[in-house]
Amino acid sequence: MSLDLTDITLTYPDGEARLTALDRVTLAVPSGSLTAVAGPSGSGKSSLLAVAATLIAPDTGTVTINGGDVTGLSRAERAGLRRREIGIVFQQPNLLPSLTAVEQLQVMAQIDGRSPAKATGRARDLLDAVGLAAYERRRPHQLSGGQRQRVNIARALMNEPSVLLIDEPTSALDHERGAAVIDLIARLTREWATATVLVTHDKTHLGAADQIAEVRDGRIASQALC
Ligand code: ADP
Ligand code: MG
Repeated sequence: MSLDLTDITLTYPDGEARLTALDRVTLAVPSGSLTAVAGPSGSGKSSLLAVAATLIAPDTGTVTINGGDVTGLSRAERAGLRRREIGIVFQQPNLLPSLTAVEQLQVMAQIDGRSPAKATGRARDLLDAVGLAAYERRRPHQLSGGQRQRVNIARALMNEPSVLLIDEPTSALDHERGAAVIDLIARLTREWATATVLVTHDKTHLGAADQIAEVRDGRIASQALC
């Protein structure tokens, strides 16, 4: 189980020309390990996550999940893959305002065609794992920013993904709460054996990572195992 990006190039239309957002990027993320992707704004970090998430097809290169090349899959096949194999956490926790914490997680099982009631056990286990067992009946407006981000992370794990992709999860949090969320991501990565990519521009978060990749101008400028 792993995520492998091999020789990925991605361009966007830019007037008459093309802007190269990713330039021959290769990155291997084994399961149960956390790769931090750092780099300045505009360097291509979110583009890298979008390609890994199969949300954007690269111009060239391959994305491999659990040993299978996913680059050639149809739109419907990619949507199915995202539901079952890929957990995605964006910067802002986009929780549904009317649902309680446990319901936010149950909905993910329902979207995947499973019974929300049968998914309750896993939803509770995950809320417990992110330290929110006592908050399962709260709605988003009754939770703090840090708690909402924890629900968001738990939700991403609901369908037992093998890949977890997280984009700057602490940008709306103060430093202490941010550090706690990063520690949580490192722990969940090991416990649930996900191949995790964490985009961050906060260097103090890099200590939790097993691998650090620095992106500059769409290229991996440096890569180190920790
Ligand atoms: P980061 O997440 O590191 O800030 P991005 O991956 O968002 O970087 O962006 C990399 C480059 O690609 C930037 O120059 C950005 O302006 C450009 N870019 C990102 N998304 C698009 C898009 N949808 N269309 C055109 N250009 C884009
Ligand atoms: Mg970004």
